[in-house]
This record gives sequence, structure tokens and C-alpha cells, in this order.
Amino acid sequence: MFDSLSDKLDSALHVLKGHGQITEVNVAETLKEVRRALVDADVNYKIAKEFTNTVKEKALGQNVLTALKPGQLMVKLVKDELTQLMGGDAEGIDLSGNPSVILMSGLQGSGKTTFSGKLANYLKTKKSKNPLLVACDVYRPAAINQLHVVGEQIGVEVFSDEGNQDPVAISKAAIAHAKQNGNNVVIIDTAGRLAIDEAMMTEIANIHRAIEPNETLFVVDSMTGQDAVNTAKAFNERLNFDGVILTKLDGDTRGGAAISIKSVVDKPIKFIGTGEKMDAIDVFYPSRMADRILG
Ligand code: GDP
Repeated sequence: MFDSLSDKLDSALHVLKGHGQITEVNVAETLKEVRRALVDADVNYKIAKEFTNTVKEKALGQNVLTALKPGQLMVKLVKDELTQLMGGDAEGIDLSGNPSVILMSGLQGSGKTTFSGKLANYLKTKKSKNPLLVACDVYRPAAINQLHVVGEQIGVEVFSDEGNQDPVAISKAAIAHAKQNGNNVVIIDTAGRLAIDEAMMTEIANIHRAIEPNETLFVVDSMTGQDAVNTAKAFNERLNFDGVILTKLDGDTRGGAAISIKSVVDKPIKFIGTGEKMDAIDVFYPSRMADRILG
């Protein structure tokens, strides 16, 4: 995960880690390299610049040049700032409703259906919940099938109504079904398209308005870098979602999406997907991620 970024940051901070004598010049040079590493990882230039400016200000404020261990202090400042950029503290999801309704949104191929299964499995096994998965992709029977396969795999019931073309009606019927059957969490997997289009946005916005979910999650493929951030922005403008799910972090992803998304949409990353299997899900902890990135 983020190997290239980790290597580049490691070599950028190497000088500070090794040198006894730290000067204003090598602090500035180091920060320039840090900025370059972030931009290479697909972090937006403006965000990368703000990041290094903040670290610089803090370094000056804490008199880094005269500190006992200036190199270590700089590394700590970079780590703290990276943690802040990714969201500070970890944020959970709202499970207070009965049932608690979770609406999944995102483009086709982002990993929405897989993540819906992973989340149901996580809530069932780790939080002792009794979830209901809902298939709301009314255009692709294959997607409905896929959710049934996932549900079978993890032993979670899947609600679908093939032939019904109204995702709002399906969602409402699923919530009524959950109330009757004692499912305390309802996870609604919606239709995505390959790119943002108005029909998809209107459809998900209509579902959102009609069912008023406890939690609206936006799923995005971390491999798509800057596109991930732009897609997040577009979905957030329509849905004002509660959190981001970053998938495919097990791939050769550069890290830009993980680092930039929070500061662009001001919504936390809540979970990450780290593989195709049903247990490849982790709660997102910004400080742990910063540790991993900085090695
Ligand atoms: P959807 O169209 O958004 O519902 O996407 P799917 O859930 O069908 O996922 C698209 C593809 O990505 C599938 O082949 C999944 O197995 C794969 N996938 C989903 N999440 C992850 C992940 O975290 N890691 C990896 N490596 N593959 C994933």
C-alpha cells in the first residue's frame, strides 16, 4: 500500500533523520521534496502546498532548529499533519436507528456491492447485528444476482424485487420487511454508472430523500486518484453524504485519494477495502494510515 509514496517520503526525510546539524535550508529542501512526493502520489498540488506550508509554520513556531532532536521533531510534525489531513480521529457509523438504514452510493465498479457485503459481514460478526442487504440496481439483473451470491456467502438475507423498476419503492419495502423480521440494520446497494450522469444522480438523490438514511456512504476506488476526488465532490454536492469508503487499497494505489479526499469534501473516510474477500475490510484510522505511509 502506497509503496512509492512511502519510499519517496522516506528519502525526503532521510536527511533530517540522519543529520545532526539542521539548517533552514535543508528544512526547506526537505519540505519541497515532501511536496513533490505528495504530488507524485496524485495529491492535488494546492493541498500538497498547503500541507508543507503548515508543517513549515509549525516547525518555525516550535523552534525546530534549536530543538534537541530537530530531525525527529520534523518527522513528527509531518506525521501529525498527515493524520490531520486524513481526518484526525476515526469516525464510526450511525447504528442508532431501528433499523439503522445505510445507503451505499458510488460509480459502477467502485466496489459498492462487494463493500455492502463486507459491511454486512462486519456488522454481523463484530457488532452482533442482524443486517438485511437490499438490491436496488434495477437495471442490471447481474448486480442483483451478485448481491445474492455475496449474501449467501456470509449468511445474510438479501431483499430484492426483480421486475420492480422503482428503487424508492424497493427501499421502502425492504425497510418495512426489516421491521417485521427483526433486521436492525438495512444496507441498500444502489445502481451505479460508469461515469457520473444526471439520471443516476437524480435516482440516488430521490432514494436519499425518501428514506432519510442514518448513514449515506460514498464508495470510491482508490486506484482512480484525482478522479476519485472529483467523483466524491460531485456525489457530495447531491447527497451531502456522511462518509467515504475507499476500496482497493490492496492494489498498487498511489495514495492521493486517501490523502486528499477529506480536505476536499470535508467528510471522513470511514472504512477501507483491502481485497476481494468478505473479511477484507478495515476501519480507517488516520493516524495508523499516516504511520504506514511514513514507514
Ligand atoms: P460495484 O459495481 O460498485 O458494485 O463494484 P463491485 O463490488 O462489483 O466490484 C468491482 C470489482 O472490484 C470486483 O471484481 C470486486 O471483486 C473488486 N473489488 C471490490 N473491492 C475490492 C478491494 O477492496 N480490493 C480489490 N482488490 N478488489 C476489490
